[in-house]
Amino acid sequence: MDADEKRARLAEIAREIARCTDCALCRNATKPVPGEGNPDARIVFIGEGPGFYEDQQGRPFVGASGKFLDELLRGIGLDRKSVFITNVVKHRPPQNRDPEPSEIDACRKYLDAQLETIAPKIVVTLGRHSMQRYFPGESISRIHGQPRRKGDLVVVPMYHPAAALHQASLRAVIEADFRRLPDFLAKILAGESPVGAAATDAPPPHMRKQPAPMLAPEPATAAAASATEPDPRQMRLL
Ligand code: URA
Repeated sequence: MDADEKRARLAEIAREIARCTDCALCRNATKPVPGEGNPDARIVFIGEGPGFYEDQQGRPFVGASGKFLDELLRGIGLDRKSVFITNVVKHRPPQNRDPEPSEIDACRKYLDAQLETIAPKIVVTLGRHSMQRYFPGESISRIHGQPRRKGDLVVVPMYHPAAALHQASLRAVIEADFRRLPDFLAKILAGESPVGAAATDAPPPHMRKQPAPMLAPEPATAAAASATEPDPRQMRLL
């Protein structure tokens, strides 16, 4: 697909999202937030779900965490027009609560279709819920910043930008993780691997014939993850 075909397909997916009633989130949402950016992006960022401002504007990451994301992108010579930014759920969870596994599941087909269309080289997951799409049961504090190959894709889990706004010590961590992205991309484009041999996994959900069911994290792991990352409800306030 060339860039125009990708743009047209992404617009079609956005229209499908706008019509979607497959979970209850659409009932209370003001606008759907399908995602935005370069249809031909080499890097896709996946957040958790729209918050108040995203819901008002129909655009991802436009609140305080979005401003920080813009800053992080600028720091590595990118902007939101050169990448694609989206979320695991495309309508705002009421009161910025966590998306339910059933809601993430209902929305999965749209994220799969977006990734299949864009065919990025790198996916960066921002926060716990998008990390779990690729690394169920893992802890963000253990694996953040470490690239892993998933089929043809390299996935880099990162803290949610809002985490750094809540916890000053995480700011330098997320900045350092971002700074490694250009090198990962350069290696991939040069046909080299940014990933250690041991860190190669099965293909990601959107490349599988039968997407694997979403696995809930072990309670102990979820607790460990949330010990180093603020409550996502707080994060979607930003
Ligand atoms: N937090 C997210 O995870 N996504 C957004 O779009 C905004 C805030």
